[in-house]
Amino acid sequence: MDFYKISLKIFITFCVFGSLTNCSSQQKKDKKDKEQALPVEENKVIEKADTIILKTTSKYPAYVTKEYVLGKFDYTKNKDFIKIPKEFSSEVRYLRKEVFDMFHKMATEAKKEGVVLKIVSATRNFAHQKRIWDYKWTDKYKKYPENERALKILEYSSMPGTSRHHWGTDLDINDLEDEYFLKGKGKKEYEWLVNNANKFGFYQVYTSKKNGRTGYNEEKWHWSYTPLSSIYLKYYNQHITNKDITGFEGAKFASDIDMLTNYVNGVNPKILNFKR
Ligand SMILES: [Zn+2]
Repeated sequence: MDFYKISLKIFITFCVFGSLTNCSSQQKKDKKDKEQALPVEENKVIEKADTIILKTTSKYPAYVTKEYVLGKFDYTKNKDFIKIPKEFSSEVRYLRKEVFDMFHKMATEAKKEGVVLKIVSATRNFAHQKRIWDYKWTDKYKKYPENERALKILEYSSMPGTSRHHWGTDLDINDLEDEYFLKGKGKKEYEWLVNNANKFGFYQVYTSKKNGRTGYNEEKWHWSYTPLSSIYLKYYNQHITNKDITGFEGAKFASDIDMLTNYVNGVNPKILNFKR
């Protein structure tokens, strides 16, 4: 009888304790599952998306795929993209919503100091980049032998599939000529960006090559919303090789030139070392 009572007591104690610990670990598991189950692409607020990415470390939002980083999708039909209001872009252009929101904040702040920021290029997909490349390959630089021609185009233009403009995070501001930013209004705009853009998450991608940066020439106009583009670059480096860069004339030079090392990663070191 005593033995039965003691056994029952132990059994009850075990059950209560067990259910308590199970409960707390179950709660944790539910919370984790809930976080991982959240459709990241539906989170319109960047802080929310950031939190999830940080908690799931090696995981990427579901929309980040090889097709996405290679620009092989229709951003005009993608709900995460927004048509830039006319006030900020004279032509029809698109950016990811979070990126435009931050650009809007930055432009509003700049305006208070007499600096007007306008977008002169934003998202371009693979097909768009191919049109730019093809024109330079078959027309503008056709007098160059093929291997030299690829390098000539690459002074300022990307091979289709390697452009950061595919991602919806990168934009060109006010002008596309270096000279514009060297004096007067352009100089003032560039200096404002250098002093303030980082606070809004924007970094100049193609900085001076004096310190050994490889790839494209300096572009004072090209800025990237790095809290997001750094994720896409990381994904690109983990999932894309030079062999994935195909589908246009001259693509056979992608491996010889080592597009990934020298161009895709030939960016401002602050972007390569960006900590979220
Ligand atoms: Zn650009």
